[in-house]
Amino acid sequence: MRGLMQDWPMLVHRFIDHAARNHKGAEVVSRTIEGGVHRTGYGQIQTRAKALARALKRKGIRPGDRIATLAWNTHRHLECWYGIAGMGAVYHTLNPRLHADQIAWIANHGGARALFYDNCFAPIVEAIAPKLKHVEFFVALGDEVSPIKTGKKVLPYEKLIAGKGNFNWEALDENSACGLCYTSGTTGDPKGVLYSQRSNVLTALIAGQSSSLHMGPRDRMMPAVPMFHANGWAIPYLAPMTGASLVLPGAKLDGASLYEMLEAEGVTITAGVPTVWLNLLQHMDQNRLKLSHLKRVCIGGAAVPRAMVERFEDDYGVEVTHAWGMTEMSPIGARSSIKPPLDKLSRERQLDFKVKQGFPHFGVEMKITDDKGKERPHDGKSFGRLKVKGPNVARAYFKGMGKEAFEKDGWFDTGDVATMDTHSFMQITDRSKDVIKSGGEWISTIQIENLAMGHPAVAEAAAIGIAHPKWDERPLLIVVLKPGATADKEMLLAHLAGKVAKWWLPDAVAFVDEIPHTATGKIRKTELRRRFADFKFTA
Ligand code: AMP
Repeated sequence: MRGLMQDWPMLVHRFIDHAARNHKGAEVVSRTIEGGVHRTGYGQIQTRAKALARALKRKGIRPGDRIATLAWNTHRHLECWYGIAGMGAVYHTLNPRLHADQIAWIANHGGARALFYDNCFAPIVEAIAPKLKHVEFFVALGDEVSPIKTGKKVLPYEKLIAGKGNFNWEALDENSACGLCYTSGTTGDPKGVLYSQRSNVLTALIAGQSSSLHMGPRDRMMPAVPMFHANGWAIPYLAPMTGASLVLPGAKLDGASLYEMLEAEGVTITAGVPTVWLNLLQHMDQNRLKLSHLKRVCIGGAAVPRAMVERFEDDYGVEVTHAWGMTEMSPIGARSSIKPPLDKLSRERQLDFKVKQGFPHFGVEMKITDDKGKERPHDGKSFGRLKVKGPNVARAYFKGMGKEAFEKDGWFDTGDVATMDTHSFMQITDRSKDVIKSGGEWISTIQIENLAMGHPAVAEAAAIGIAHPKWDERPLLIVVLKPGATADKEMLLAHLAGKVAKWWLPDAVAFVDEIPHTATGKIRKTELRRRFADFKFTA
């Protein structure tokens, strides 16, 4: 017997329709690429997204076609997501921090028929235009078009969406493709993850569960994570779904600019990767600033250092939610927040849990296994390959790449190595390719880095394995000191001693001016391994 409830296909336009109808007071504030601050609301975003959908249809774009965007977080980029997805096409985000050749490779692999770009990316667009095999026209997302040579038509966005007329959102199957986002590709070519309308709706519902990115009409959310990183962490859907206002920081993600937006726009909740928050904290330290409105910060994309949780919570009264996820999971998978059995623990012990990646959301199944697929115990100590399942987890990459990550019984191998404890808190100890193998045992680089960053002189730290004649590999700790601070190897090792097993202690410490990061803010371990390829431990 079938249930007697209504069929309501899960389509992303419902978020913007809902907000336009029910949250008329919510604002969408953007720092524009030109530099000013633009204010609008969800009703206007909906109207303009429909105008874009109409224009795309007029230009011959059909459901399933990919439309690339090379853009920061602004109201126009938000309109693009809704306009493109609402007419059945697929928004295909490109990461401007990648090398131009890689951007072109991704746009070609994704088969983008048009490319929408912020004027500040005109030089990238000019460089890649001759290589783009499928792009038929370009759209400049500014008030005007900067002079640019592409060999194809370049349209100003405002002109494209001008003119009157209505548009009825396309009546789509909820499993239709909706968004295409490529993984960071630190090893090999990046791989495309093709979200469906349904997976995006479910992701927002899942991410909005309380204690994660939960927010409501009283909140003002500033995503410091760009929309091109891992489906924008679903925030472009979550904010209108919950009636929260959106504060979009545009191109300026440095500490001073973020601080200015947080204060001037009364931001209550924000989200981003640890490197962004390092810059904000440094800016606030240097200028002795306080936060007047911010209540919560969601930190993910890389492990949150314990010292960062302490700074936000103890010095600024801002609650930290540590979140873990990945592009392949739309992207949210787990979050760390203190559950009742942990209430009675000391602050120090609670912090041990906060820096873990946390327990899975409803809708995410998780397990850790050995290399043969046998499950490992949930004792908080045993490491294993982290595998996940759920309605917002990819079941294949675009055009069949990377098949080996997808197991026959539906589990996806995340490539992360993790422990799980009796409270179901998962802790990432490494990417499987970064773990240090010493004497047949594994050393967690993340744990060493995290502890090193608790030293008052350390701004950032990374640990890598260096070949060793006896132990196979031994850890090298690479450190950037805070401006004006001093520390030597002995001081840092003394700080780590007693906090990890003795054989985990790094054999050497290298002091550098800067640690390289990937286009999504992770430590670029491949580059560090290359730089230190000839490093030799001295006795
Ligand atoms: P991306 O798809 O670019 O978001 O990268 C996903 C990967 O980033 C994960 O598989 C993890 O290796 C890493 N990652 C994401 N969030 C965290 C976190 N909170 N702690 C540690 N690693 C993380």
